[in-house]
Amino acid sequence: MPEFNPHLLLDVPRYPDTGYALLADRIKRMLGTSADVVFVQAEAILALEAVAASIARPGAVAVNVVTSPYGTWFGTWLRRGGATVYDVVAEAGQPVTLSAVSGCLDTLAQVDIVAAVHAESSSGVLNPLAELAALAQSRNALFAVDAVASVGGHAIDIDGLGIDITVIGPQKALAGPAGVSAVVLGKRAWAHIESTPDFAPSSLSLAALKQDWLERGRAALPGTPSALEFWALEAALDRIEAEGIERVIARHQLAARATRA
Ligand SMILES: *Cc1c(COP(=O)(O)O)cnc(C)c1O
Repeated sequence: MPEFNPHLLLDVPRYPDTGYALLADRIKRMLGTSADVVFVQAEAILALEAVAASIARPGAVAVNVVTSPYGTWFGTWLRRGGATVYDVVAEAGQPVTLSAVSGCLDTLAQVDIVAAVHAESSSGVLNPLAELAALAQSRNALFAVDAVASVGGHAIDIDGLGIDITVIGPQKALAGPAGVSAVVLGKRAWAHIESTPDFAPSSLSLAALKQDWLERGRAALPGTPSALEFWALEAALDRIEAEGIERVIARHQLAARATRA
């Protein structure tokens, strides 16, 4: 066992109420986006479930790219919310093909949501994000992306590609803690969520997070936030900013090439 004293984790000072907005702004800068960033006080799986729960409604039609169990789960959560979901399942270990996605879109009169994982941690698969974004846009559908494994390993041009919802977590290529995650939401995402029946009080309700945090000046987070997680997120962002996100991405790309070689 490495030298590690868990007693150092006790009696840490509470994370300051003024700190959450600063963390959100640093994440926005890191991602180069002007969209809103909200925190989900849990591992990124819960943030993904919160997105699905907050955008699904009866009558909504979703095209859901499946390149791993994460996509399967996302489709399950959308269906639980009443959406009609068409899964586009890729060959094992392969990215989804655009012809499969456009072929599915072409069979549907109306498409409200397109969802996909950007990069898969288990297989190294990278889905064609820009092209998927363009397909979603061509149908005026909301585009929701699981970028948990890709943030810090690949560039993600959220605003440039018009990605409406992006889920990230610090625990993969950002080398941060696993107990807090973030959702990046643009205007179209909020409009969709606001027209979806809310189910608050619920830890999965993004509408509640908007009302209770974004619209209250982004001060105290609801509940008792885990100080450990937010201090760790701050430290992870310190380290990324010191290295520079472009260098962080280049370092992961080099490791990927070396591993494949
Ligand atoms: C890791 C990962 C998540 C978060 O889930 P874990 O419980 O850490 O596995 C979500 N989506 C993707 C694509 C991931 O690679």
